[in-house]
Amino acid sequence: TFKYLFTPKKIGSIWIKNRILSTGHMTSYVENGLPTDRLIAYHMERAKGGVGLIIMEANAIHPTAYFTAKTICAFNDEIIPYYKKLAESVHPYGTKMFVQLFHPGREVFPSGTSVAVAPSSVPADRFRIIPKELEREEIKDIIKGYADTALRVKTGGLDGVEIVASHGYLPSQFWSPRLNLRKDEYGGQSIENRLRFLKEIVEEVRKKVGTDFVVGLRLSVDDLDDEGAEYGEVQEILKYIDNQIGGLDYFNLTGGSSATYASSTFIVPPAPVPPAHFASHAAKIREQVSVPIFLAGRINDPVIAENVLANGQADMVGMTRALICDPHMPNKALREEFDRIRVCIGCDQACIGHMQMDLPISCLQNPVTGREIQYSKIPKAKKIKKIAIIGGGPAGMKAAVVAAERGHQVTLFEKSDELGGQVKLARKVPGREEFGELVSNLKRELQYYRVDVRLNVEASKELILNLSPDEVIISTGGKPYIPHVKGMDLPHVVTAWDILSRRKEPGKKVVVADWKGDMTGVGVALYLKELGCDVEIVTSCYQVGHSIQEKVRSFVLTQLFLNGVEMTSQYKISEVTEGTVAFSNIYTGQKLQRYGIDTVVIAYGLLQENSLFHQLKEYVSNIHRIGDCLIPRTVEEAILEGFELAANL
Ligand code: SF4
Repeated sequence: TFKYLFTPKKIGSIWIKNRILSTGHMTSYVENGLPTDRLIAYHMERAKGGVGLIIMEANAIHPTAYFTAKTICAFNDEIIPYYKKLAESVHPYGTKMFVQLFHPGREVFPSGTSVAVAPSSVPADRFRIIPKELEREEIKDIIKGYADTALRVKTGGLDGVEIVASHGYLPSQFWSPRLNLRKDEYGGQSIENRLRFLKEIVEEVRKKVGTDFVVGLRLSVDDLDDEGAEYGEVQEILKYIDNQIGGLDYFNLTGGSSATYASSTFIVPPAPVPPAHFASHAAKIREQVSVPIFLAGRINDPVIAENVLANGQADMVGMTRALICDPHMPNKALREEFDRIRVCIGCDQACIGHMQMDLPISCLQNPVTGREIQYSKIPKAKKIKKIAIIGGGPAGMKAAVVAAERGHQVTLFEKSDELGGQVKLARKVPGREEFGELVSNLKRELQYYRVDVRLNVEASKELILNLSPDEVIISTGGKPYIPHVKGMDLPHVVTAWDILSRRKEPGKKVVVADWKGDMTGVGVALYLKELGCDVEIVTSCYQVGHSIQEKVRSFVLTQLFLNGVEMTSQYKISEVTEGTVAFSNIYTGQKLQRYGIDTVVIAYGLLQENSLFHQLKEYVSNIHRIGDCLIPRTVEEAILEGFELAANL
């Protein structure tokens, strides 16, 4: 039972029905700068699922605040009818909605159309931008933008606004002494001057919306980069805001900054970061200020949220990805149906990962997210069918769950003794253990919908034909690709999967030959290093860009570097002999030779494993292929494919 999580809380002038909130996050469900029906359906589904408060994503308060190509533009009255629609979609469920008042300052994505502006022209490393220094008239115009947008939110019938000063965005650029080099009244050494911008925003917003409308502030407890504010400074800043500025109804605490790759990781912290990692910072701040504290940061489980509240570390708990993954998590927790909650695994692939590419967000585990209009209610099957699914990886498991949920009779065959496919191996990589939880989630769903799961069964043509199913789904996955170069048949040449599954043991001196540039090569290299091998990874590519996949890979590359793994890029394997391995440069053809090698590990991606499909296709008319056996891709695409097929059978 929850003592705190489902207790109402008063924030400013309004009551929130429980302590669970969805923090502001970009969805890319935006066309021409305005919210789409998809965005409305997305939030309505979460309201139905029981969340107490939704803080809607970054709304640009000024033409210079165009953060990405998919930013909501709230700097004119065209936005008001959309706010009204959003209010009408969440209020019937007792959910309140606030709006983020947003200006990124110098942190503009390459797809954003703004000219980046900042208190001073200090370059931004992540997006390689040198911003234009704001002139004083421009500062006043931006402050007016915050206030006018706040009034639009109120006119639209929503419940509050949140000034975004977190993650190195504009207000925090003013208070950082490293980013604000101004000599006028908005700069200099004094905290009073560096907080003048925020003070004037709060004053102007209050003038427009009055005292009975909620106004909050979001900020990072530590920017975790050299230029931003660190924890000690943030405490001083917050005390000053609380005592000298006032006018705010809550502080919403998070961490990290957009400024660098490393610090931006903490904006949406991935799985190796422990749950509620800023809770102790928040607790200390909560003791020093007079307003309620909201806290976010990988709080993916209602029990963890309850503990944060019970420990006095926060008054409300941000569970954004938990809600992206399972919008009905609050109601399930309230009903104590813990086994029915699909737990977010912190992979960041389809949520923030999509956003960073200007794609509509979804969830790797839950393809309904972002597709609520089509799929929030998957209809029961008109005719109940007997369905055989061969292959218990994520695609096959998801197809089995959805088909069974619709009422079909489903049998799932898996030739090994465990479900999970490639995920079973991926979770062996240090720091990726939690990725395996997606298999646990799917297993629970298979059980709930009573799918007949048969492990250790190699489904043959005869077995399937004897079963005479109405539909056959082949999800037999992939097998490692072996490059066509000399020496691949030597006993010391193995695949990444051989190593991760422990089918083969490595020698002392190991070279990993990586071609694909995904997580497999770097992951197995880290795994081998932790086993105590001397490891070199020779890869045909390193990461570039700022997508989440590249960031996660670069995170592992950094760990490889810190652990003393040698790295050589832009070479692909050309020959292996006993004790040597040769590579050639992908641009110049120049040769590279390594000697005294005990084991060569090949990480060259996957080939389709579809032999059963070819054996069956002339005997079975309703036969389908999904996942890697069709074409090797990401887990997200495999799950989506399994979902969409089963939803329409
Ligand atoms: Fe969580 Fe991954 Fe889904 Fe994002 S994509 S909500 S991190 S499970």
